[in-house]
Amino acid sequence: MMDLGLRNKRALVTAASRGLGLACARALGTEGARVAMTGRGIDSLEREAEAIARAGQTETLPMAMDLRDHASIARGCDAVLRRWGGIDILIANTPGPAAGPFLSIDRAAWQVALDMTLMPVIDLLHRVIPSMRANGGGRILCITTVGVKTAQPSMVLSNATRLAMTGIAKTLSVELASDNILVNTLCPGPIDTDRMVGLIDSTRREKGISREQAEAIWLDEVPLRRMGRAEDFGKLASVLVSDIASYVTGAALAVDGGKSRAY
Ligand code: NAD
Repeated sequence: MMDLGLRNKRALVTAASRGLGLACARALGTEGARVAMTGRGIDSLEREAEAIARAGQTETLPMAMDLRDHASIARGCDAVLRRWGGIDILIANTPGPAAGPFLSIDRAAWQVALDMTLMPVIDLLHRVIPSMRANGGGRILCITTVGVKTAQPSMVLSNATRLAMTGIAKTLSVELASDNILVNTLCPGPIDTDRMVGLIDSTRREKGISREQAEAIWLDEVPLRRMGRAEDFGKLASVLVSDIASYVTGAALAVDGGKSRAY
């Protein structure tokens, strides 16, 4: 078995109560990393955190963190820093913004998307980068979307806010290289989480079609003809924040079954 060298590393994974965030937390925990995991509420997080700690014989820290509230983000980051003295790995994950055609999305919805998808990552970076610098390095992985490679129809909020995120990550990969902080993004295509179920449902309603037809639309352009598995996504994320990927920074890696076709 390949040792990723993650045992005892201090990781913070946001929006980790389910879906891709939870999958990343599980994969890191399995490798023996200490994992602070955040969500809006603490109940299901506590259960998951306990299971991860048991499985990886490691320490986990479940924390309520409302990503729309920068004070909550600051409190959470500080709690991890107090507990473990540093953060080696940040997996910056947020809930995805609403879907829909451009004119169905009003100014307020744009604001919500910015507050929920872009600003929390900026707040996290502000809080975590100084401690990584002080500790001699770190790994930052942002979860975006395949929409940064090729625009996804009816996903303007996601396409737009995640391109901004990608610009930040690429800029930081240059700015922070001399601090031994590597910054990458993972760009998921359709992966089997609650969010995907919701998106398929939204396509079904928008087009007045069946669930199967809506799912077929989502998979239409996926050469591998299936959804990705969240578990595999988490494992890939843990490789990308490990020593094995020590020469990878500024990358925006599609995890999309071939959907984007982008170079
Ligand atoms: P999900 O809906 O399954 O999970 C979202 C997570 O966000 C949950 O853990 C939830 O508890 C948390 N959350 C919601 N509101 C919050 C708040 N105010 N504060 C803190 N946490 C909150 O989504 P997912 O499929 O795991 O997607 C994760 C990210 O990946 C999203 O940004 C999504 O847009 C992106 N993405 C996912 C897919 C996919 O197919 N799953 C495809 C492209 C992009």
